[in-house]
Amino acid sequence: MTVERFSPKQTTTSDIPVKTLEANRSPAPASGSRIGFVSLGCPKNLVDSERILTQLRTEGYDVVPTYHDADLVIVNTCGFIDSAVEESLDTIGEALKENGRVIVTGCLGVKEDEIREVHPNVLAITGPHAYESVVEQVHEHLPMPEHDPFQDLVPDHGIKLTPRHFAYLKISEGCNHRCTFCIIPSMRGDLISRPMGEILDEAKRLKAAGVNELLVISQDTSAYGVDVKHRTGFWNGMPVKTNLQTLCDKLGELGMWVRLHYVYPYPHVDDLIPLMNEGKILPYLDIPLQHASKRLLKLMKRPGSAERTLERIRKWREICPQLIIRSTFIVGFPGETEEEFEELLQFLRDARLDRVGAFAYSPVEGAKANELPDPVPEDVKQQRLARFMEVQGEISTARLEERVGNEYQIVIDSVDSEGAVGRTYADAPEVDGLVHLNGVYDVAPGQRVWAEVIHANEHDVWAVLSDEQDEEEASA
Ligand code: SF4
Repeated sequence: MTVERFSPKQTTTSDIPVKTLEANRSPAPASGSRIGFVSLGCPKNLVDSERILTQLRTEGYDVVPTYHDADLVIVNTCGFIDSAVEESLDTIGEALKENGRVIVTGCLGVKEDEIREVHPNVLAITGPHAYESVVEQVHEHLPMPEHDPFQDLVPDHGIKLTPRHFAYLKISEGCNHRCTFCIIPSMRGDLISRPMGEILDEAKRLKAAGVNELLVISQDTSAYGVDVKHRTGFWNGMPVKTNLQTLCDKLGELGMWVRLHYVYPYPHVDDLIPLMNEGKILPYLDIPLQHASKRLLKLMKRPGSAERTLERIRKWREICPQLIIRSTFIVGFPGETEEEFEELLQFLRDARLDRVGAFAYSPVEGAKANELPDPVPEDVKQQRLARFMEVQGEISTARLEERVGNEYQIVIDSVDSEGAVGRTYADAPEVDGLVHLNGVYDVAPGQRVWAEVIHANEHDVWAVLSDEQDEEEASA
């Protein structure tokens, strides 16, 4: 459910696209076994990049930070919306210009003709989550280096592109839904859930490596296990049922913050709320709702209606009052009337969601929604987007002001000249707001401290350290 990418310029979505290379004017000499890597797109693509890099490092390849130092460059592309395609094609062009030897992988890889039309000289093109194919192509164009297999080149948890204290944990690939605005299933295929034991082993390795926050991701997190009919798997010699509730339960036992992203609003999401209330996983739900109008949701091939969703949210909050809900919406979907848009605004006022991203609908090549009649004129879309953001801006400010006077545990992300910057359980890295601890320098990234919120604006809050600190965490 990566609708964040409908219109990246208008979202709070991060700069997760990681460009790991710097440009350099002079072409690189082709010798050795040094790989340059550029990762674009969403956190799911970032995890693919981590896997490819882990495999290549295991085989003895070096990963270098500039085009000039690399013997070959891999570009992991995004192809979800037109602006992402453009960015991917530009990046391939830059890599060709600066280095000359380029392998393309990722979502845009499924459109080989489109890439070759613009860049006929790329060495090879492979599709999304095709780890073996991209590694095979590297072998073909850059012979595997000789290295001592007993020398440990890669840490147990593999290569990570996130800071040491948090990590994305991808639990499945692909998606069985066919939302009419989305072409992800045609690029990434149907749902394939990873075995439970494999995911839990990875989570344990990440914890051992210093990670204390897991961000559970996939295209459709709540569908986990549907493709394998929730069969029984094994972990630590014990039978475990392949479903999201069991997975959350087991992840919760590892003693890390566990945060769920891209949760499609299936009815069984209700079963996760008690786990959040018990403190097993964070009371945080990233659940893209897309719209409130029943008719539009039907046209999008999505479930739900305003009344039903409001009723569910009310029940969730009753069970777990500290629950934070993040969601995303599309305005200006084909055929959206003023009345239906008003219905969406009223839903926002009633639901009072904590964090919201909104995107003006933009046609994605190959999406079914393009065939729908009555497209909304661009100026109307933009006006609706502005009206939407205004209403949500007031709600977000009010929700954050409710935090003033309360104490929270804060995980520190960075320390700069103004002080420390961190997040509470209510703020996911990259997409949500921050907690500013001005004047606090004596802390390190990953450390957790207690602080009282003293001020809030529409996105962020400011806090001061509490007198009492948890000794174990203060010394972490
Ligand atoms: S088709 Fe799947 S990936 Fe695309 S928006 Fe729908 S649920 Fe998300």
